Amino acid sequence: VARSAAGAELTRQHRAAQQAIRAGLLRDLLALWAAVQVADLAGTIGRFTAAAAVLVRARYQESAETAEEYVTEFRTAEGAAGALTILLADPPAALVVAGLVRGAALSGVLKGRQRGFSAEAAARNGFVKASGTASNLALDGGRQVVTDATAADRASTGRWQRVAGGSACAFCAMLASRGPAFEARSAKFEAHPGCSCSAEPVFEGSKLPDTSARYRDLWSEAQRDVLPDVDGTTNPALTAFRRLLEARV
Ligand SMILES: [Zn+2]
Repeated sequence: VARSAAGAELTRQHRAAQQAIRAGLLRDLLALWAAVQVADLAGTIGRFTAAAAVLVRARYQESAETAEEYVTEFRTAEGAAGALTILLADPPAALVVAGLVRGAALSGVLKGRQRGFSAEAAARNGFVKASGTASNLALDGGRQVVTDATAADRASTGRWQRVAGGSACAFCAMLASRGPAFEARSAKFEAHPGCSCSAEPVFEGSKLPDTSARYRDLWSEAQRDVLPDVDGTTNPALTAFRRLLEARV
């Protein structure tokens, strides 16, 4: 992480702050979800998604402002030259958010039903999908600020690196292991709700975050010892890495 210990600590705190925003949103959504009835999905989902859209847009703003503060302090810690004006993007429109959350909720309930889940279990599955989509949309606020600010920052390398938690999925761990591989102007941040990855601007001389360094070592180990039985899977390299990650947990 970063070049400086202070920068590394700011990145750690920032990821924790974003996770707290996500946790607050999930708590609010869970309270609203109580009014959704699987037996009358069509009649009850609309109120949930409309309220969810309001919450998601507020948390998007909060996530963006948290990231703005982080980037400003991080630049100072890293000794970046010059000032940087950070622009905050508007959250996605309420109708768009409501539509995405609705789609996720309905498909979660439907898939649960198709797999033979009870009504309660299907509803739970709907909530998991809906809240996952919602929290991803909200934390995009912060991720967008970091990637946009990095693209606009002449003092940075124009790249960011993914900061993943210790229990990220294999896909996110793989991306984190690549370090400063992402061009801020072009790379899209593909995020998973459960992994809560964040981004760090990369300055000349930045190092890998601790988790990323660990993932990089595991990745090399997995590629050295690719097991013969992962050959022929869609992505043998990722499959070998996933197996190794699971064995280490
Ligand atoms: Zn992930």
